[in-house]
Amino acid sequence: MEAKNIIKIFAAAFTVLTLTGCSNKQGEASYTGGFFAMDTYISATVYGEGVEAAAKSAKEEILRLESLLSVTDANSDIGKINGSGGKGAEVSEETAELIGYAGEMCEKSGGSLDITMYPIVREWGFTTGEYKIPDSSTLTALLSKVDYKSIKIDGNYIAVPQDVMIDLGAVTKGYAGDKAIRILKENGITSGLVNLGGNVQVLGRKPDGTDWSIGVQDPFGEGYFCVLNVHDKAVVTSGNYERYFEENGKSYWHIIDPADGFPADNGIVSATVIGDSGAYCDALSTALFVMGKEKAERLWRDSGDFEMILVLEDGSVVISEGVTKMLAEENEKFEVIGRK
Ligand code: AMP
Ligand code: MG
Repeated sequence: MEAKNIIKIFAAAFTVLTLTGCSNKQGEASYTGGFFAMDTYISATVYGEGVEAAAKSAKEEILRLESLLSVTDANSDIGKINGSGGKGAEVSEETAELIGYAGEMCEKSGGSLDITMYPIVREWGFTTGEYKIPDSSTLTALLSKVDYKSIKIDGNYIAVPQDVMIDLGAVTKGYAGDKAIRILKENGITSGLVNLGGNVQVLGRKPDGTDWSIGVQDPFGEGYFCVLNVHDKAVVTSGNYERYFEENGKSYWHIIDPADGFPADNGIVSATVIGDSGAYCDALSTALFVMGKEKAERLWRDSGDFEMILVLEDGSVVISEGVTKMLAEENEKFEVIGRK
C-alpha cells in the first residue's frame, strides 16, 4: 500500500520532469533537485543566474511551512491549536491568515471543503497509516463536531471547540508552492517549475520562450491523459489514486465528504484546477472533487478565475472552455463546458 503510493508520487513527478526536460540549450545555468516533505516528493527545475541558492531558499521555505502547518506535529501552529483542549493558541500571523483564507474557501465551496475534518481523516488512518473503516457510530459522533464555522479567529489567537481539529492538508501544498515561487522570484529567477507531489506551479516560460508542458496524471493508469501548455500558472490535481487503501476489493481514499464522513464518491475520480494561485487551486481541487460534476460546473460558471479538468468514474473527461487553449493536443472526446 505505502509502496504503491510512493511509486505513484514518483510517476507524477517524473511525468513533469520528462516533459519539461532538464537541459538548457540557451546556455543558462539550470538546477533540478528534489526532497521529501509534506508527506510527498517535492521537486523543482530552475533556470538562470544563482539557481542553486534560489532553489535552496525555496526548499528552506517549504520546510519552514511544513513545521508551521503540519497537523501531525504537536509543535506546529496547527498542532498547538488542536492540542489546546478548546482553549486555543496564539499562532503566527501567517498561520492565522491562512486559516482565515481556508475558511473563506470552505464557505465558497458551500461546505464541500471543511478544514475541521481532521478527527475523521485521522480515524480513517490517513495521517497515521493505520488504515481502517470506522464504525458508523464513531463517524456520526465525529461528524457532529465538523464545522469550519466553529473556528474563532481573534487576531493571531485561534480557538476551536473541544474535540474540533483543524487540518490545512487541502491547501498547504498549494500555499507552499506560491511561497516557493515567490522566493524564486525574489532571487531573480524568471523561469522555473516546482512540483509538490502533483501540485505543479510554473514561473514564467521555459528559457527558450515556450510554455511549460504539464502532464495531467491518468487516474486509471500510470501515465498522463493530456498535456497542458501553460506559463505563470498553478496546475493542481486532487485524485482518488493519491492516497488510499483497499479492503474487500473496495478502495477508500483520503478526500472525505463532510456530508457523511466517507471518502467523497460523487462521480469524480480526479479534479484538476488551473489558475494563478496555488493555494486557491489547491482548495478548489479538493472542493470540486467532493462536490461532484454539477456543482463544480456551477462554481466554475460563477467564479471566472480558474479552469478545470474533471475525470469522471466512467472515464469521461469534462473540461472548462479555457482549457481548450491550453491543451497540447485537441481531444474531441472531452466534453467542453461553456459559460452560457
Ligand atoms: P488534497 O490532496 O489537496 O485534495 O487534500 C486532501 C487532504 O485534505 C486530505 O489528506 C486531508 O488531510 C484533507 N481533507 C480531506 N477531505 C477534506 C475536505 N472535505 N475538506 C478539507 N480538507 C479535507
Ligand atoms: Mg487540495
